[in-house]
Amino acid sequence: MQTPETRRMITLEVVANTRLSPNFTTVTLGGPELAHLRPTGRDQTVRLFFPRDGQTGLRMPTLSTEAWMAQLLLMPKSSRPRVRNFTIRRTRPEVNEVDIEFALHGDAPASEWARRAKPGDPAGIFDMGTTYLPPDQVPWQLLVGEESAVPAILAILEGAPASLIAEVFLEVPETADIRPDIAVPQGVRVHWLARDGADSRPGMSALDAVRRSPLRPGRFYTWVAGEAKLAGGLRRHLVNDRGVAKADITFVGYWRHGRSSPG
Ligand SMILES: Cc1cc2nc3c(=O)[nH]c(=O)nc-3n(C[C@H](O)[C@H](O)[C@H](O)COP(=O)(O)OP(=O)(O)OC[C@H]3O[C@@H](n4cnc5c(N)ncnc54)[C@H](O)[C@@H]3O)c2cc1C
Repeated sequence: MQTPETRRMITLEVVANTRLSPNFTTVTLGGPELAHLRPTGRDQTVRLFFPRDGQTGLRMPTLSTEAWMAQLLLMPKSSRPRVRNFTIRRTRPEVNEVDIEFALHGDAPASEWARRAKPGDPAGIFDMGTTYLPPDQVPWQLLVGEESAVPAILAILEGAPASLIAEVFLEVPETADIRPDIAVPQGVRVHWLARDGADSRPGMSALDAVRRSPLRPGRFYTWVAGEAKLAGGLRRHLVNDRGVAKADITFVGYWRHGRSSPG
């Protein structure tokens, strides 16, 4: 991960909540403190702080070093905020706004917060940096994710050079979650996969689709993120079955089936 050289805790408020499709919503956060965020594009990740159920305000950690986590854990639970990882989907520095896109899934804390978020609600962010770091001169790229990584992959594609050549596998819960209109460079092929009620763990359709794909010839860089079995399983497949060098793969386990994120 490439972490930012300088960063600080940023307190914002919800500006808008825009439902995109059955399982996605975009929460727009804004405020003057966004002047302290250096937008990098790609899969720029933040820790997102939001109040727990029953809390009326947001108490942010004050330390802007990795010691923030210890500071958070020392707060009594009654005033300690929730914290989860999310991707900056889009920034509009001219109006001090960022969009975060949530894949909604059941009654988990971040999902619930995103469903209910309304203008004026407080939230905070802390920049964690990026992991999408393709080596120079790699002829093409393989980008793979399930719904939780759709925002990151769409942000990567939006900022990509027109010369990018890529195969992109995006798994979503339902056909209605597919975004047919995304603009991508000419050399990019996007394969949307919808589970549509099939009783499979998120990420398994994307993993199967890549396994079955002939893929393009030549060296390629892979960026895969999402449920841990997708990220780890794809890396294993590429290394063991296709002879891909580990150094050409970035794999990020975003969440683990059946386990809540800490914080
Ligand atoms: C670097 C990074 C960037 C991320 N960016 C995004 C992003 O932009 N948008 C986004 O939606 N997510 C993103 N995620 C994933 C997100 O942090 C997790 O999904 C997180 O667990 C959500 O918190 P929660 O409170 O909703 O669920 P938790 O309290 O963490 O989990 C509760 C239950 O829900 C399950 N669960 C968690 N996430 C999912 C899911 N996506 N689908 C189905 N079941 C799930 C867990 O296994 C657990 O059983 C990112 C994660 C990382 C590490």
